[in-house]
Amino acid sequence: MKAKVYLMLGTNIGSRQANLQIATAQLAKLIGEIKERSAIYETGPWGVMDQPDFLNQAILIETELSPEKLLDALQGIEYEMGMRKKRKWGERLIDLDILFYNDQIIDNERLQIPHLLMTERRFVLTPLNDIAPDFVHPVFKKSIRQLLNSCQDPLKVMILQTDAV
Ligand code: ADP
Ligand code: MG
Repeated sequence: MKAKVYLMLGTNIGSRQANLQIATAQLAKLIGEIKERSAIYETGPWGVMDQPDFLNQAILIETELSPEKLLDALQGIEYEMGMRKKRKWGERLIDLDILFYNDQIIDNERLQIPHLLMTERRFVLTPLNDIAPDFVHPVFKKSIRQLLNSCQDPLKVMILQTDAV
């Protein structure tokens, strides 16, 4: 059985739209079929403010990979694309985060699923709400729509372009 996985893509260096395109092509090649993708959103930096704005996109992908192998593969793509990790929450060419893996709850040193800070980040919930408004967060037992409605994050998240799929 293939797993349904929601991923969040983020980029704030270089040709940001091209970075998203290259990353999604690599994901389709190395991880599995991309079933849905959100619009692309632009948002100010979260956590560390003196850095360029981010583009974010949520995708649904189906994969045979286990959560750990999936993280390995995502880190491989980040590395190949030249992830420049200068500081926590700092600028990067591409950031690939696992939001959900089916409705599994995983909590170990290397991997936390659902992604821990997602419910506090409007730039995650807004794109995710495009493709998974009714998906129920397995810990909080609330839908993405409900979580977005009650999200306190003041950062503005603006749609960049609609992505017809
Ligand atoms: P952030 O994504 O919070 O901006 P990083 O991408 O630098 O920060 O964090 C990378 C680390 O997060 C990795 O070492 C990885 O092991 C860990 N991690 C834990 N849970 C997840 C997850 N659900 N998806 C991606 N990385 C995760
Ligand atoms: Mg990350």
